[in-house]
Order: sequence, then structure tokens, then C-alpha cells
Amino acid sequence: MTTKLLLTFAICRLIVTVGLTVDPSELLRLGVEGQLSVDPCDVETASLDFGLISRSEPMAVLHPGSADDIARLVQAAYLSSQGFTVSARGHGHSINGQAQTSNGVVIEMSGRSRGSRLGPGNLAKPQVAVKEMHVDVWGGELWIDVLRSTLEHGLAPKSWTDYLYLSVGGTLSNGGISGQAFNHGPQISNVYELDVVTGKGELMTCSEEQNSKLFHAVLGGLGQFGIITRARIALEPAPQRVRWIRVLYSNFSTFTRDQEHLISLHGEPSTLKFDYVEGFVIVDEGLINNWRSSFFSPRNPVKISSVGANGGVLYCLEITKNYDESTGDTIDQEVEALMKSLNFIPSTVFTTDLPYIDFLDRVHKAELKLRAKDLWEVPHPWLNLFVPKSRIADLDRGVFKGILGNNKTSGPILIYPMNKNKPARIDKSFSLLLTGTQFNDGSDRRSGRFSCQAIFSMGSPMRRWWDQRSSVVTPDEEVFYLVALLRSALDNGEETQSLEYLTDQNREILSFCDDAGINVKQYLPHYTTREEWMDHFGDKWDQFYQRKMEFDPRRILATGQRIFNPSS
Ligand code: FAD
Repeated sequence: MTTKLLLTFAICRLIVTVGLTVDPSELLRLGVEGQLSVDPCDVETASLDFGLISRSEPMAVLHPGSADDIARLVQAAYLSSQGFTVSARGHGHSINGQAQTSNGVVIEMSGRSRGSRLGPGNLAKPQVAVKEMHVDVWGGELWIDVLRSTLEHGLAPKSWTDYLYLSVGGTLSNGGISGQAFNHGPQISNVYELDVVTGKGELMTCSEEQNSKLFHAVLGGLGQFGIITRARIALEPAPQRVRWIRVLYSNFSTFTRDQEHLISLHGEPSTLKFDYVEGFVIVDEGLINNWRSSFFSPRNPVKISSVGANGGVLYCLEITKNYDESTGDTIDQEVEALMKSLNFIPSTVFTTDLPYIDFLDRVHKAELKLRAKDLWEVPHPWLNLFVPKSRIADLDRGVFKGILGNNKTSGPILIYPMNKNKPARIDKSFSLLLTGTQFNDGSDRRSGRFSCQAIFSMGSPMRRWWDQRSSVVTPDEEVFYLVALLRSALDNGEETQSLEYLTDQNREILSFCDDAGINVKQYLPHYTTREEWMDHFGDKWDQFYQRKMEFDPRRILATGQRIFNPSS
């Protein structure tokens, strides 16, 4: 069957089955290279997401054959007399229906089955530019496929999420964070250029230099300003192996002091810092069963009671150091030197060593185990918070030791700090000159380095990992924490594991923060009223609104975020 016939067939079914509000001739005239589908399987998939909490059926699903297909569809929606909405769906790993739409078309950016279909046309496979150290990828590409392609050239992106079966466009619409963020910034700080289809159906290339307003708007923009069809991502030489270490703490302030110390080393040479810093909270004996902790092997059981947990809570610092086999002989000394400055419980060091790709893909292994037990496709009432450093101890008291009590955790609780500013880079000759003239007298080298940075900063504006010009919202402090409650709801008769109970507890946590005046910001935010969104964006709301009016004036994109209602 030709594409046109397929399309006619699809649209006839569309009219019959859903009583389409769009003039079907508008969709017929699109002449897309890909496929517009009303197949119940496609519609069902697009109606759901990883959260399994909300469900919205689109009228149809577009499997795009090119970026032009997307531009044609969005333009048709923009120009349509009645209007219809368009939502890009990455890999559908949102929690609260952010990629769904009930009165329009969902664009399946990541293909029909995992890994089976990459981008269309010249982006069918990521295009690696070895000399320039970047890769061009389709917006629906999964990070695992980006990694596999770049590794063929001995290269890899610098900044990651913990899980790689997420789409490039989906994580760039949020931020994209993991334990590398202190060192390289979030994923949105590691993008050179984007192709974006705006809400008017225009396909535009944007970067720091070209159409920069659109570029900054789209990064962390929750899909509100355009659909990312191509991203140019920064690369670095890929390490071969990873030394992966976990250590435990019973004292919260010692734990956070060590985490903050480790991220403060971000400007140091690679031998003098770790490459990844995360951590998690252990509020019950579920540690061994926890879905990210297969690392603690059964031969190595850890009992909270045996390590003197303070208030029944333990904290696990998770750190890694990358290395190549050729330099492997120094890894032990480097790790040992770094560990000396830490104050964990001495008997609780857990170490493993593995190939770089296995470390980055670690959560997928946990996914496979949970899938085998039918524990993956269950509701996920996740709550992700950015917490200012000055108030993180209040979260410990009020939430980890308070609201969560001794309930079963039902999933990991991550906690790790990030810093907003990049270390200022010092010109080498300038640095040497300064060291030579000022510090030959044997004075402290640390203060020498500080002086260099101060002078450098005066001459050029401080560049930030968390760029204020992007749409993402962070707390108003230089260092802030991610606290991620990644819990699964189970229908096993235990009240404390039910969806209702966990959802209520999330509400209680948010109220606690509100009442205690802790200015948290939700990451992967979910709100339902305009007031809540305005409060979330704070000072950035006016800019966010103006950008929306400029790039998506009919408010047809990503309505599942529930920030704007489409205009008729
Ligand atoms: P979707 O959920 O499909 O879409 C998310 C939003 O982006 C929607 O509004 C959608 O319309 C929009 N969108 C999708 N594609 C595009 C595009 N091409 N252009 C414009 N807008 C688009 N996040 C982290 O930062 N760090 C982590 O470590 C991390 N780990 C995770 C682990 C798991 C198991 C899961 C389920 C999620 C995790 N996330 C993490 C969250 C993840 O970043 C978000 O779910 C994000 O939305 C990406 O998922 P997705 O690609 O499936 O996007």
C-alpha cells in the first residue's frame, strides 16, 4: 500500500472511531513520509507512561519519517480552524502524563519498539564528528543508542542520566542529571546546537549564537516551545573502566559534608577528584532488596542495626573513578588518596570494577530483574525535589527520619548535591606567570589558585552549569541537592505500599517543605493549576510566558504538562 492510501485508511478509521474534531482533509493534505496511525495498540501506548497514574487517549499517533513530517503536522495544527494539540513523546518515561494529549496527535519520537528504529533520513544513526568531538542525533534517539554509536569511535557524551532508555529530546526538555552533573553540568549544558519545530510549524536551527532565545527556551522547556528533532551533543574520550565504590554513614551531616567536599573538587585535574558523586538514603532493612542495590551482594549483607544507624537511617555515598587499562596501575592509589579525606563508617566499603558501558547502563539491569518479577509495569508515584543546601538537614529531620518513618521504602531515595557554577578556566601561561612571580617564596599554592580565579572572573562573566537563560528552575543557592523518591506502588494488600498512601505521603512532604519555608523546586515538575506553575517559575514566569506566546502562540504543544490551555 502506498503512503497516501495508508493515510487515507488511517484517517477514515479516525473519523469513524473517534469522531475527529480536526477537518480530516487537513491531515490528508499533510502527505507525511512516515505513518499516521489509529491502530489501537499505538493509541494505547501513547495513552500511558511509566508513571501509570494518568491516561489520555490521543486521536492519532504519528510515526514521523522526517523532521519535515513533524513540521507539517504542527503547522497543520497551528493553522487549523478548530485547532488540535500535538505532543512529542520520547520514550514515555514521564510520571504524570506529560507526553500525553487527549485532543490531538502524539508524535512517537523514539520508534515503536525499544531500539528497533532510530531517527529518519540522515539521522537514522547518530553522526559522530570525531575531530570536532560532537555527535548529531535524532531527537527521539535513546541515550543507550547514542552511547553505543559514540563508543565505536572511542568517544562518549559527558553528562548522563542514571537510566539510558530515555530519549534525548525528553531529557533535554527537563535537564538530564546524574552523578556527573557536578563535574560537567546537566545534559542541557552539554548541547551545542538543536533543530526545533516551533509551535508555528517552523523548523529552526538554534544555538548560543543562532536563534539563541529559542535555544535557551527549549532547554529545560518541558516541551512548551518546540519539538527537538536534532541535537548536537558534546563528547569526550570514553574511559574504558570504572571503579565503583559505596560507603555508608550513620551521621547525616558527615555524609553531606563529604558529598559537598567531593563536588567542590570539580575544577581539579581528573586524578584529584571522583568522576561521579551520588548517594542514597536507607530508611529500612529493604536495602538488600532495593532495586538499585544488587551491588551489595548477598555475601555482603548489611544490617542497619549492625552499623549503628542514627534514628534507623543510613546514608550511602556512591562514587566512581574512571580509568583506562593502560593507566590502571595508578587507580588504586588515586582512589585511596581521595578516600582518605572521607569520614564514612570504616567497615562499610563496597567496591566493584566494571566496563564503562556496564556502569552507565546499570539501571537497565535492575529493570530486567524487576520485569522478570512483574514489578516494572506498576504505578510510580515519583517525587523529585531540588533542595537548597542550607535546608538539606531539615529534609533529613522532617522527611527521612520523620514522614517516611520506618515504612518500607518501596524504591530508592537518591540524594546528591550539584553546583551551579563552572570552575573558571585559567589560561595556562597566565597561571604559570602568576605562580612564578607570586609564589616562589613558598606560600600556599591553594591561595595562589584562588587569586588566579578571582582575577580571571573579573575579566569575563562567570559561566554557569545551570544557565539562568534556560527554562529550567533551580533553588536560589549555589549548591543544591536532588532528593528523588523513586517509589513503586504495589497492590499487595500492604497499605503503606499502595498508590494512595504513597501519593498522600508525597503531598505531606510538599506541605512540610512549604510550612517549614524550604524553597524546594520540583524537578520533572507536576502541577495542575496556573497559580502553582507561576509559583514554580517564580521570577522566571514572565519570561516563560512571553516565550510561549512567541514560539507556540496557540498553545498546542505538550499540553500534558498542564501549564497552558490551547487557544481555539
Ligand atoms: P517523555 O516522558 O516521553 O516526554 C517528557 C516531556 O518532554 C513531555 O512533555 C514531552 O512532550 C516532551 N518531549 C519528549 N520528546 C521531546 C522532543 N523531542 N522535543 C521536545 N519535547 C519533547 N531523569 C534524569 O534527569 N536523571 C535520571 O537519572 C533519570 N532516571 C530515570 C530513570 C527512570 C527509570 C525513569 C522512568 C525516568 C528517569 N528520569 C531521569 C526522568 C526522565 O528524564 C524523564 O522521564 C524525561 O521525561 C525523559 O523521558 P522520555 O524521553 O521518555 O520523555
